Amino acid sequence: MTAKDGKAVKINYKLQVDGNDVDAGELEYLHGYNNIVAGLEEALEGKKTNEQISVAVAPEKGYGLVNEEGIQTVPRDSFPDDGPLNIGDQFMAENQNGQQMPFTITKITDEEVTVDFNHALAGKTLNFEVEILAIRDADETELEHGHIHSGHGHHH
Ligand code: ZN
Repeated sequence: MTAKDGKAVKINYKLQVDGNDVDAGELEYLHGYNNIVAGLEEALEGKKTNEQISVAVAPEKGYGLVNEEGIQTVPRDSFPDDGPLNIGDQFMAENQNGQQMPFTITKITDEEVTVDFNHALAGKTLNFEVEILAIRDADETELEHGHIHSGHGHHH
């Protein structure tokens, strides 16, 4: 069996960015449903169990380029007074459609706070080392939901 659309693929992966370890672990994902970054999914297409790959995923096929419009300056007093603000703190904002938008504080002055809505890995090349541990057919419900159900109980 090979990794292709509609297969549940279990991988062991290591992610390095700029020479630093960023993430590692095991993951089962549904191939062809944007469960993982596009560049990694493309690299795994057609691979078999026990195959190992190393792939450098460009930002365009990873977490995207840095969008300057995602970097905004807001008044300091738009944040609650009940705690110190620190660079690197992450918060959630809600847009007009009620969607949750995570952002990170990147700069603080007495008057203003600079916030960044870009993904922390936007603009970065992602260096993955991946081993395929197992491949199976996804079941009907998984295909319907567009994600895998094993391991972590059911969620929508
Ligand atoms: Zn589900």
